[in-house]
Amino acid sequence: MIVILHPEVAPESREYRAVLDYLAHKPNIKTRVHQEVGSLRTVTEIYLIGDTMALDRAEIESLPGVERVVRISEEYRVVGRHQDDTRATGFEYNGVRFDQDGLNVFAGLCAVDTPEHVELMMRALKTHAQVCTRMGAYKPRTNPYSFQGHGKQCLPWVFELAGKYGIKVIAMEITHDKHVDEIREALERTGHPTGVMLQIGTRNTQNFELLKIVGRQREFPVLLKRGFGITMEESLNAAEYLASEGNSRIVFGLRGMKTNMGDPHRNFVDFAHVPVVKRLTRMPVCIDPSHSVGSREHAPDGILDVLHVTAQGVIAGANMILVDFHPVPAKALVDGPQALTLEELPYFLEDVAIAREAYEKRRSLRSRFGNKA
Ligand code: PEP
Ligand code: MN
Repeated sequence: MIVILHPEVAPESREYRAVLDYLAHKPNIKTRVHQEVGSLRTVTEIYLIGDTMALDRAEIESLPGVERVVRISEEYRVVGRHQDDTRATGFEYNGVRFDQDGLNVFAGLCAVDTPEHVELMMRALKTHAQVCTRMGAYKPRTNPYSFQGHGKQCLPWVFELAGKYGIKVIAMEITHDKHVDEIREALERTGHPTGVMLQIGTRNTQNFELLKIVGRQREFPVLLKRGFGITMEESLNAAEYLASEGNSRIVFGLRGMKTNMGDPHRNFVDFAHVPVVKRLTRMPVCIDPSHSVGSREHAPDGILDVLHVTAQGVIAGANMILVDFHPVPAKALVDGPQALTLEELPYFLEDVAIAREAYEKRRSLRSRFGNKA
């Protein structure tokens, strides 16, 4: 059960204390307070855990300060979409809005290599009015002898270049809690020229201790990739781990499943799950066509598989695209074979716009037919 307070009820107010006192006197009920910080208003939500069936919903709703009460299913208490749950989706970070209605493109380098390549990438993004990118500094690699990323030493110049080219959010994978501190320190040292969305990769989707630590910090939003060999339910519970610790600014990322059934793609593309995640949760949904497909193969129509699957995700309502680009893919230190080139950036963006327009038309078609269809 969630008790949602009126936005003007501050934690130090009498109404707030009265609601918590009321709940404290109920047997076998534990409370957990969440602040949902929105651009227009901050909402306090009190999550009730325990014997909630015994509670009187109408009585709680009649308390001064309470806006409404939502009964929730056991699953995904914080990130889930519950019955009669009309709460807004998404969040704003560093001036960029992330929700289940919009679409943000994060084109960039799988792995940061040289300042020249990072600058070329960011300049191209600015030229094409892009304010988000992906830049990997900490790379989890299958082979211990492969390049593991430049780590913290590249952060200051990556952030400064981002500031120079108006990049507002960088998706950056972290594999250890100390990386969060390193990113925070580098942003502080460089005067916050940009923002960072912490990415939890598919190999760490069930690294519960990492999830708890990342969930406890509120400064950075999180892109959580679906685990490549676990069920959807397990991956959504991983998102709930983050949210249950206090950080519900989460984007959920589909990146394909590891099975030979998807051959010759690197992973079995799972973008049919975009609407499923939107139905089960309130998280914006990201697709990663690069790590799903893993190559630059194209169909007889000349269109790359990476672009075909991007369109499939977007036409199904995806809210974010994480996609590998590189100025010189042959020189990329990680995942060059799947990278798109800078010359392909305007083409990619236009192709995405076509798919997005088709999605919007599908939505208005649906509302035109209402419940008759
Ligand atoms: C990545 O995005 O660079 C990456 C390693 O993705 P994943 O965790 O999905 O393999
Ligand atoms: Mn990669």
